[in-house]
Amino acid sequence: MELWQERSRNSILCSDLVAQRFGLDSHALAQVVERYPMRITPHQFELIRQADDPLGCQVIPDPRELLDDSLLVDPLNEEQLSPVPHLVHRYPYRVLLLVAGSCFSYCRFCTRKRKVGCSSMSVSLGDILKGIDYIAEHPEVNEVILSGGDPLTMSDRLLDDVLARLSRIPHLQVVRIGSRAPVVMPERITDALCALLRRYQPVYFLTHFNHPREITEATVEACQRLVRSGVIVANQTVLLRGVNDNSETLFKLFHTLYRLQIRPYYLHQMDLTCGTSHFRTRLEDGIAIMDDLRGPLSGLAVPSYIVDLPGGHGKVPVTPDYVQRLGDHARLRAADGTLVDYPQS
Ligand code: SF4
Repeated sequence: MELWQERSRNSILCSDLVAQRFGLDSHALAQVVERYPMRITPHQFELIRQADDPLGCQVIPDPRELLDDSLLVDPLNEEQLSPVPHLVHRYPYRVLLLVAGSCFSYCRFCTRKRKVGCSSMSVSLGDILKGIDYIAEHPEVNEVILSGGDPLTMSDRLLDDVLARLSRIPHLQVVRIGSRAPVVMPERITDALCALLRRYQPVYFLTHFNHPREITEATVEACQRLVRSGVIVANQTVLLRGVNDNSETLFKLFHTLYRLQIRPYYLHQMDLTCGTSHFRTRLEDGIAIMDDLRGPLSGLAVPSYIVDLPGGHGKVPVTPDYVQRLGDHARLRAADGTLVDYPQS
């Protein structure tokens, strides 16, 4: 057994243990876990100082999850956009293939909270093969995003098999892997895994840091191993109340990622997922944060602030109104608020 598999086996699943360590009500915690399972990797558990600190509240169950029934169970309408099980076809040219039935840890704010840690998430090899067949039968699809769950919970052998099958589809040009492993299970980013990914270039690796404290010696090493192997690493962050909803935290996060050659790609407005409303921020807050970041932060380190619209309408950028259209010319708002005339032709 590899080190990461052993570490994964030692993940914290017992809510009593968490309640004891952080002085929480174990009965209340157990009730939440009954509906929304809990899983915390040893790496994360060691970094948490308090239940409500920016790392704790991402993974420790919160009774407020059960009070929120007003939002949507499947906010992105993924179930309706699945022509075959575990494949989501929302945009014409790319698909999401859900190849893994579990994650290393269960984020309390997850869009797929409805099934994370539940049997409905489990994926068989037969399901994966059906998804690959679907891609092969759709020549318009030129990109696939492997997600789940976390694709890196798969063994190298299975991942290799999936990537090899995908690489034989002539019209498929790019593979993207979405994984939180570098953040929560850095042991998973082994030299063998990097060598495997190198064989299937171009592979884009999309990871998910939400707070600067997640950037540790181990996570830096994991990301550097990926970067050295030629994989292009980008990051998506979810804007979370009480975790990272201020300019200072996000400046530090994005600047550090940029320095590590990890491109900050998206800042996501929280999806309208049932059980997560205590994490939600207002759009104005996100716009104000982005305003603060532009300028001090290098342009390459500024992510797009986006909303994935409910109902499966896709992602839209959220930008302040920089442009006033005035017939044949426009006026653009500078970072200091000055309006500058700008001819259109
Ligand atoms: S790792 Fe991703 S899919 Fe898994 S619980 Fe976290 S956000 Fe959801």
